[in-house]
Parts: sequence; C-alpha cells; structure tokens
Amino acid sequence: MKKGFDIEMLYDVTIIGAGASGMMSGIIASGNGKKVIIIEHREQPGKKILATGNGRCNYSNINQLADNYHCKNKDFVEDVLNQFSQKEMTKFLNENGMLTKEKNGYLYPRSNQAASIRDFLVSLLEKNGVRIMLNTECSDIKKDDDIFNVVCSGNIIKSRSVIVSTGGMTYKKTGSDGSGYKLLEKMGHTIIPPLPALTALYCKEKIFKELKGIRLDGKIELYVDDTKVSEDTGEIQLTDYGVSGIPVFQVSRFAAISLYQKRKVTASVDFLPEIDKKKLNELLYGNDLNIRQKLYGMVNKKLADVILKHTGIDGNMSIYDVKNKQLKILTDTLKNLHITVYATGDYEHAQVVTGGVDINEIHSNTMESKKIKNLYLTGEVMDVDGLCGGYNLQWAWSTGYIAGTNC
Ligand SMILES: Cc1cc2nc3c(=O)[nH]c(=O)nc-3n(C[C@H](O)[C@H](O)[C@H](O)COP(=O)(O)OP(=O)(O)OC[C@H]3O[C@@H](n4cnc5c(N)ncnc54)[C@H](O)[C@@H]3O)c2cc1C
Repeated sequence: MKKGFDIEMLYDVTIIGAGASGMMSGIIASGNGKKVIIIEHREQPGKKILATGNGRCNYSNINQLADNYHCKNKDFVEDVLNQFSQKEMTKFLNENGMLTKEKNGYLYPRSNQAASIRDFLVSLLEKNGVRIMLNTECSDIKKDDDIFNVVCSGNIIKSRSVIVSTGGMTYKKTGSDGSGYKLLEKMGHTIIPPLPALTALYCKEKIFKELKGIRLDGKIELYVDDTKVSEDTGEIQLTDYGVSGIPVFQVSRFAAISLYQKRKVTASVDFLPEIDKKKLNELLYGNDLNIRQKLYGMVNKKLADVILKHTGIDGNMSIYDVKNKQLKILTDTLKNLHITVYATGDYEHAQVVTGGVDINEIHSNTMESKKIKNLYLTGEVMDVDGLCGGYNLQWAWSTGYIAGTNC
C-alpha cells in the first residue's frame, strides 16, 4: 500500500472509505486509467468485510431481486442490480482468481474466509497503483468551481470527482461511524434517520428469562399498531432479553422505524408453523402418552417445560384431564406467543442501518448526486437496506462498480 500522497497532485477520483463499495469503485476507476486515492480513517482497509458472514463473507446471493431490498423506489434498486448483479460479481471474482461457492443460494469465497475477499480487493487496488491513505479522517468536502477540496487530517486533496463510500453506522469499530452522513448533509443532501436493522428484538415478557438459550424453527410475525407488517420463518433464538436469529433480523427494521415513530410494536411467535391448530389438537389427542411426553415430541424440551409451568398443567396428566382453559393457553403459547417489543438491538449489535441519503437525490444509472456534479455515493450510506443473506454486500459491489465506471 503506498504511503503519503502528492499534495500538488490533482486526482481524478478521491474515494472516502476503503470498505466494500469504496474498494470496488477504486478498482474499476483505476482500471479505466483514472488516478485514484482512497481515504480511510481506520488502520486497515475493509475492516467490516472481515466481520461479515461470521468471518466467512456471504458476499452475495443467487436470488438477486429488488424485492430483497427495502427502498422507497424498487425501480432504483432494479436499475442498479441490472447494471452489475451477483452474476457479474461472481464472474469478477472468478476471473481474477478467487474461487467461490454456493450454499442454499448464499455465495461465499471458496476459502470460507472473509479475509480472502478483503485481501483480494486490496491486491487489485495495489496492482492498479491506487493510493490508500490509512488513519486519515475526511472531515469536509468543498467544491471550488469544478475541483473538489477534500479536507482530511489537516491536508487538502484536490480531485475532479469524489465518491463517498463511508457506509452506515453499525459496528463503529470497523470504521462506519456515521460521519459520512454529516459530510453529505453539509453538502445539501437529505438524510433519512439511520436506525439499526438486521438485529434482535427486546421484549417485555418475563418468560424470556426462562427460555434463554433455546434455538428452534419457528415463524415470527411483526405487528405495528396491531397490523401485521412483516413475517419470516427460520431458526429463532430465544434469549434472556427477547428474540434473535435470522427471521427476527429480517423483520427488525420495521420495529426500529416504528419504535422511532413511537408506535406500538408487538410480535407473535409460532413454534410449530408447519402445523395448524386443528392438526395440533389431533396430535395432542392422538395417543395416550402424558401431556409432557406429547410436547417433548413436538418442541424443544426446555420450551415444553416452561410452557407447562406457565399454564399450570401437570406434565404427568393425560390430555383428557387438562382443563379447556389451560389447553387453550397451551395451544396459544405454542402457536401464537405474544410479545411486546420495546427496543431493537443498538447500532453495535445491528448488521446494517435503515435510512441514509434519500435515493431521490441520486442518479440510479451513475450513482452521481443530483445535487452536486461529479459527487458519487455508494453502498450503505444511501437509504437502501437489504435482507440478511448477501444482499447488502451485493449492494455495495453493484453501486461501487457503477460509481467507479461513471466517475
Ligand atoms: C457483523 C456484520 C456482518 C455482516 N455480514 C454480512 C454478510 O455476510 N453479507 C452481506 O451482504 N452483508 C453483511 N453485512 C453488511 C455489510 O457488511 C455492509 O452493508 C457493507 O460492508 C457496506 O459496505 P459500504 O462500502 O457501504 O461500507 P463499509 O464496508 O462499512 O465501509 C465504509 C468505510 O468507510 C470508512 N469511513 C467512514 N467514514 C469515514 C471518514 N469520515 N473518513 C475516512 N474513512 C471513513 C470506514 O472506516 C469504512 O472502512 C454485515 C455487517 C455486519 C456489521
């Protein structure tokens, strides 16, 4: 990595942030012959990439549809994905010697190591002669006629165009601390409040203290002011504070936004989504085992014991001796555990943010700002958030590619 920069040099492109999207832009722009410098305030590039996919980097997903993204204009997402999709990303990796693999639609590097993707991006930047200024904070971007003055750690870098790739504001130790929003707001952009997404839900019910540690396949439905807004199915984790796991992550953005708006957020968990209440009754009455044994045959033992305790049912009883009222509570708990959500995980425990720069202020075909000519935006800094499953990194690659091509 080259150190220092020529203060007199006029760069073609200055990129703020050596994360996923910034490095992609740098590779593409430098590959097109542009003089590129990347400013990164952390001590190494791509720190967040290292944390992705539990250290394995789920870099994309074969099911790239606009529906897998939350954004106020799906055409914007479609325009972006049509220009550089997961197929192009995989081709880009494979053609440059990085093997990849697929598991249930999720795409990973063959090495199973996020570091291999990060190092791969850095090596392409080095090959193309891109300067990466580490430990360098960008604190202001000013425009004088057609030239940008990028203020960073006491110096000014002159550049014909600027790409802001500063990410969101989760896992601050990886560098995305929200400072990009301030830079862009100062330049006239509208920032939709960034809130934690892909995170856990904190619930009021005391029962969670006893359910802590259970993982099971279930369905979560999220309600705002008693209206269902989202649902997902998969492995749910019960914790002492509430619920977590991928299905919970997928619905969490709606909880974050609604709680921010001071609305009522509740959820319901179905521990047996593949069985309707009629079938559940048939199973409960289907043989002469005691009620505890019947529940053990359906759900996690610890869950069964907690449910029996809370319904006041003696597990040794026959189903025919259980009172109707108790049976109703038992089946309701199994099929529809009601939860009152009072918070989501914070920025340090969320994978992405919802919110960011209003996409109405960005051209979808170039990633150029509609407010300032030759200013480009990439990745999570804009108001688009993807589902869990490789969609957010693909957003970074796609927008990074487009900005790098057009800057
Ligand atoms: C724990 C975790 C796991 C994840 N796993 C996955 C996954 O498996 N698959 C997936 O698709 N997505 C995953 N994500 C989300 C994904 O990592 C991000 O959406 C993606 O990295 C965003 O890319 P970006 O380029 O916009 O920002 P980032 O990758 O966050 O990069 C922004 C860069 O800008 C730098 N920067 C910020 N402000 C300044 C400044 N003022 N001056 C200088 N530098 C600055 C930062 O230090 C950082 O290096 C995960 C996120 C987390 C937190």
